[in-house]
Amino acid sequence: MDGSLISLILPSYNEEENIELIYDSIHKDMSHLDYDYELIFIDDGSADKTLTSIQQLAATYPRVKYISFTRNFGKEAALLAGLQKANGDAIIILDADLQHPSHLIPEMIQGFEEGYDQVIARRNRNGESRIRKGLTTMFYKIINMLVDVTLQNGVGDFRLLSRNVVNDVLKLSEANRFSKGLFSWVGYEEKIINYENVCRQAGDSKWSFSNLLNYAIDGVVSFNTKPLRLCLYTGLLILLLSLGYITVMFIEVIRTGIDVPGYFSTISAILFLGGVQLVSLGVIGEYIGRIYNEVKQRPHYLIKETNIHDANDQISQY
Ligand code: UDP
Ligand code: MG
Repeated sequence: MDGSLISLILPSYNEEENIELIYDSIHKDMSHLDYDYELIFIDDGSADKTLTSIQQLAATYPRVKYISFTRNFGKEAALLAGLQKANGDAIIILDADLQHPSHLIPEMIQGFEEGYDQVIARRNRNGESRIRKGLTTMFYKIINMLVDVTLQNGVGDFRLLSRNVVNDVLKLSEANRFSKGLFSWVGYEEKIINYENVCRQAGDSKWSFSNLLNYAIDGVVSFNTKPLRLCLYTGLLILLLSLGYITVMFIEVIRTGIDVPGYFSTISAILFLGGVQLVSLGVIGEYIGRIYNEVKQRPHYLIKETNIHDANDQISQY
């Protein structure tokens, strides 16, 4: 479409070897399309030369924009910054580590032309170990039982969003962001494109097991209070069971006298209930922590340096 602008958002954390490569690869795929485009790199407080590489690109190509954070604020914050600064009629989010193949971009844009508001690229998990595949499948089963929005296996942040979707996502200003869920929450008609999994070429994945676990907890807790309800039900069930047990034991005691070796049952009841209580407290703590985070109203990120200077800079830096 003539005059339409495509914004590409690239969260980048320690990706110095990848910046130029991803630029070239995107340029190759965009150059034969009839669209203007801008690339917005978000340097998420990288410790290496990521920012320098981006600045060198920006000096050569005016379509390269960047935002550099004062420290590492996380990919969610980087995504938010990118969405806020993007001017495009359609916005494409992709990783800077070349794991999101840019040759899908033309197909995604075609989906946008067909009128879809979200075009989602979904990867298969070839090349991953069987255990990891199994674990992720299980992870999505559990998470979808717990949350109200649908999250699909293999679907990440690699997607095209129309201007309408982005405007709606930006209305959601929560402090604990879980973008996958937010994109699904806003709705709109979506199209899915499948692609082969690509292994990382340079640098390391920034996800550790504990990151993933935290991500899962964020995903569940950000979307509803079902875990709180679950605590309540477990508590009720255990209460009923122990009441039954106490009644039976009480009758036994009256009939046959005091049973001395009650050690096992006592200790197991204490341990089990203690566990349930701790878990429940933890769940409640999660929600309270989140309320605390929201109440503080802290900015999601702080900008150290950028070459984007728009009129509403003051407002959009929240
Ligand atoms: N990233 C980021 N901030 C972070 C961690 C990651 O901006 O704190 C970026 C990273 O540079 C990459 C993308 O998010 O472009 C995905 O990260 P990664 O490749 O580590 O995740 P994976 O592909 O393993 O899911
Ligand atoms: Mg990656």
